[in-house]
Amino acid sequence: MLMQFGESLVELIQGDITQVDTDAIVNAANSQLAGGGGVDGAIHRAAGPNLMQETKRLYPEGCPTGSAVATRAGNMQMKYIFHAVGPIWRGGGQDEEGQLRSACIRCLELALEHNCDSIAFPAISTGVYRFPIDLAAQILLRTIHQFVIENQSPRRVVVVLFDEGSFGAFSQVLESFADS
Ligand code: ADP
Repeated sequence: MLMQFGESLVELIQGDITQVDTDAIVNAANSQLAGGGGVDGAIHRAAGPNLMQETKRLYPEGCPTGSAVATRAGNMQMKYIFHAVGPIWRGGGQDEEGQLRSACIRCLELALEHNCDSIAFPAISTGVYRFPIDLAAQILLRTIHQFVIENQSPRRVVVVLFDEGSFGAFSQVLESFADS
């Protein structure tokens, strides 16, 4: 599914984020940047051990929740990985929405700083961090919308959903942007 947001094209696909052809991909990391399961595990497997070495060297203290840090992409073809630390969902009263938004904004800023015309996001925090998928879709897509309208960049934003349910949830929210 495709939608034009100002000068930018937003694309939803179902698949594996390690296979996309964007300049940068976003990882759903933990604040220790220690690697893990889910999309983080898939990215580290595809990138190879150099990714963990680089991450430890550049960011020995990790990365706070609601932010993101950049590394190269190891054996993968993209130029960068932006390791975003989304919130653990604790019921919604601990600024989880604000933290998801700021992690997403930080990735888009990193794309600008690193001259990336295209970026791919996974559904940050919606796996083991249990963020509700519909709310995550609204936050991610609204944040992307606002950012690309304000900055005319990145020109291409791909959101990669791993399973059909997530793809359906994001598609519904993106359709609701059709009139905006
Ligand atoms: P978090 O800890 O932030 O919740 P997870 O990796 O557990 O991160 O899940 C985030 C989302 O990434 C989930 O929707 C999960 O289905 C999805 N996911 C898992 N593997 C991949 C992959 N290879 N490509 C894209 N998305 C993936």
